Amino acid sequence: MSLSQVASSIPASPTIALNEEARLLREKGEPVIHLGIGEPKNKTPITAILSSAAKLASGDVKYVPTDGTPSLKKAIVRYSEENYDRVVAPQNIIVSDGAKQSLFNTLFTLCNPQDEVIVIAPYWVSYPEMIRMIGAIPVIVTPEDGSFVPRFEEIEQAVGSYTKAIIVNSPNNPSGMVYPENLISKIVDLCEHKGIYMICDDIYHKLVFDGKVAVPACKYTQHDVENSKIILVNGVAKLYGMTGFRVGWVIAPKKLVAIMTNVQSQTTTCVSPVMQAAAEGALTGMQSIVESLRLSIQNNRDVLMQELHSFTDVHCVKPQGTFYALPDFKAYCRNSVAKNSVELCQFLLKKALVVTVPGKEFGMENHLRLSYAGTVKEITEGIERMKWALDPNAPSEIYIGDRKLVRDWL
Ligand code: PMP
Repeated sequence: MSLSQVASSIPASPTIALNEEARLLREKGEPVIHLGIGEPKNKTPITAILSSAAKLASGDVKYVPTDGTPSLKKAIVRYSEENYDRVVAPQNIIVSDGAKQSLFNTLFTLCNPQDEVIVIAPYWVSYPEMIRMIGAIPVIVTPEDGSFVPRFEEIEQAVGSYTKAIIVNSPNNPSGMVYPENLISKIVDLCEHKGIYMICDDIYHKLVFDGKVAVPACKYTQHDVENSKIILVNGVAKLYGMTGFRVGWVIAPKKLVAIMTNVQSQTTTCVSPVMQAAAEGALTGMQSIVESLRLSIQNNRDVLMQELHSFTDVHCVKPQGTFYALPDFKAYCRNSVAKNSVELCQFLLKKALVVTVPGKEFGMENHLRLSYAGTVKEITEGIERMKWALDPNAPSEIYIGDRKLVRDWL
């Protein structure tokens, strides 16, 4: 059977594959702790439930405009004014099935085969694969000093005549870092100067800690949306804990949005109006929901950092936002248990029933991505189990309820 070489070369999203593995283990009754998952535990905001329920109850659930319902677009226009101090027109907006589809459509619309897109490591797992899927080339910039924030010169040096765009994700999944303002402003300048698009994946933009602000790139441009190189991607998944609703959007010049709309009309037609009504409910409802989520996640971050401090040989840069941390597990990636982060992650899942994600998938080998979007109990118990599993002096058996975990490998 001959299949597409490109499609066949695309691996499953590791985070989604691990979610599925954890789900199957839980179904079997295994006491799995999920430090892999990228979704908050909060319930859907009531305003989102009510507006989507009303749409459903109307019985009028049909095709809607490909680029989004006028009323959701109106809410996004307002969101943009309030949060970005940016005036955008409805024609600058296209709504898609999650920020994931927004990103794919953006890349598909921008790039010709062989064009290059700069991705900064550590990066969200899907960027390089999406770029490959559309026949373009991901150019990875890895900070030379081993930090999670590149020097501007490192990005500048990666720009060549084929560079079409730079993806900037701050606050960053997986490191939790917020890029410094002067780095953002220099990238804006570089893009405008060279005619490159700056794709800002802002999906975590309000989940920042300790009074920090993720200053939006558009603050540093003199141009309005129509004439700007900045493309903004956002959605309701993370800030409102609405991962299952699958609503994201792009704000870009009208010409680009029009082409993206043609593309979307040939692929998914439109986002379900029920889900768009939910997103509208979230955006126009009480925004204190986002603040309480932010506060509880900041507290989780503190708990995680405290737990990690007592973990011998593990160094973790304190996250400034998101709900991820990317501790360095180098010390545990070079023994008989694991040679790399993929093996370490498999080992922890098998022996301690703790889900983590290998740093390799984010372009940072020897690290593990830990999510602290869950409960304090999950975080403390998860790290305690990891410590037990990796400590040669720990008791050889522990009980989780009546499930015995055995440490028989060191
Ligand atoms: N960008 C980043 C950085 C993400 O972490 C995610 C989800 N994990 C997405 C985009 C996709 O978000 P959505 O669920 O809206 O598709």
